[in-house]
Amino acid sequence: MQLHNFSAGPSILPKEVMYQAGEAVKELNNSKLSLIEISHRSKAFIEIMDEACELALRLTGLENQGYKALFVQGGASLQFLMIAYNLLQNKAGYLNTGTWSDKAIKEAKLFGDVVEVSSSKDKNYNYIPKDYSIPSGLDYLHITTNNTIFGTQYKSIPKTTSPLVADMSSDIFSRDFDYSKFDLFYAGAQKNMGPAGTTLVIIKESILGKVSRAIPSMLNYQIQSSKDSMFNTPPVFAVYTSMLNMRWIEAQGGVKVLGEKNASKAKLIYEEIDRNNRFEGFANQEDRSNMNATFNLKDPSLAEAFDGFCEAAGISGLKGHRSVGGYRASMYNAMSIESVEILVDCMQALEKKY
Ligand SMILES: *Cc1c(COP(=O)(O)O)cnc(C)c1O
Repeated sequence: MQLHNFSAGPSILPKEVMYQAGEAVKELNNSKLSLIEISHRSKAFIEIMDEACELALRLTGLENQGYKALFVQGGASLQFLMIAYNLLQNKAGYLNTGTWSDKAIKEAKLFGDVVEVSSSKDKNYNYIPKDYSIPSGLDYLHITTNNTIFGTQYKSIPKTTSPLVADMSSDIFSRDFDYSKFDLFYAGAQKNMGPAGTTLVIIKESILGKVSRAIPSMLNYQIQSSKDSMFNTPPVFAVYTSMLNMRWIEAQGGVKVLGEKNASKAKLIYEEIDRNNRFEGFANQEDRSNMNATFNLKDPSLAEAFDGFCEAAGISGLKGHRSVGGYRASMYNAMSIESVEILVDCMQALEKKY
């Protein structure tokens, strides 16, 4: 039976990407060697890294605009401190829209003053704050464009005169917008880009070199950049597989086409959540994420029945995060609309029978 993988992360990748990555582990391009046993300084791997960086900039429309793409290790969580290490001299602003922003704030406080510009904690982060004023003179403003756990997503990007930094771990390459509004954005690979083990960081290079503290080499964007992400051995498998997935994204028509597909998938599930009176949505309607739909059963005693329908239909990874409960349907780029239709069928089956 085919499974429909709604996992929030590590998460679904296109079948052909998985297949090609598997082949390269066996043998890379008829080289008689595996991807994971060649030197990262070899021509073959340098070409892979270069292509991955080029694709990342091309997909976000940022080629030749003073931006650099880096692939680093340590996950998105290391970026929480690397950003502050490299950019926070006096004061930074953070919008707190959930667990991940909260963790980013905690790390930044080790380096300077942090202003929590606004927070949606009062309602367990079920919305994106809108009425707030951003102080001037910040070293940067940090936002989390998609809140994986709570299922909220910025539909418009805050306007600020300070450099704008964004955690896009769970919605990178999922929609078309003006990426040049951001001065730095980053994404742990394992949500919408590739396997765990690498993090994409795209930086406008002109914002670097402004803090006075000494920065350890591994955590220094300028050093990582001058070494083209090869200061030390990069995570070759994660970079290669992410590169394959970015090729796949481009072949699908890029972020614009995928953005439209993602919007259709989201529409389908949210219409059912609103129509079907066994269920209720968690996130504020206007802030609903196109990537992670969070919802609950109105009557929790129906959970066993609903889980049974889902299991029989091959639905996997639907359990909500413990801080929200209920269900979370993660519908990243590689998920087909047919899989979402099957989930909707299960919701309707529950409604019919109970
Ligand atoms: C998963 C996630 C993270 C944490 O990523 P790691 O790579 O595990 O450190 C950070 N931010 C967001 C928005 C996420 O979804």
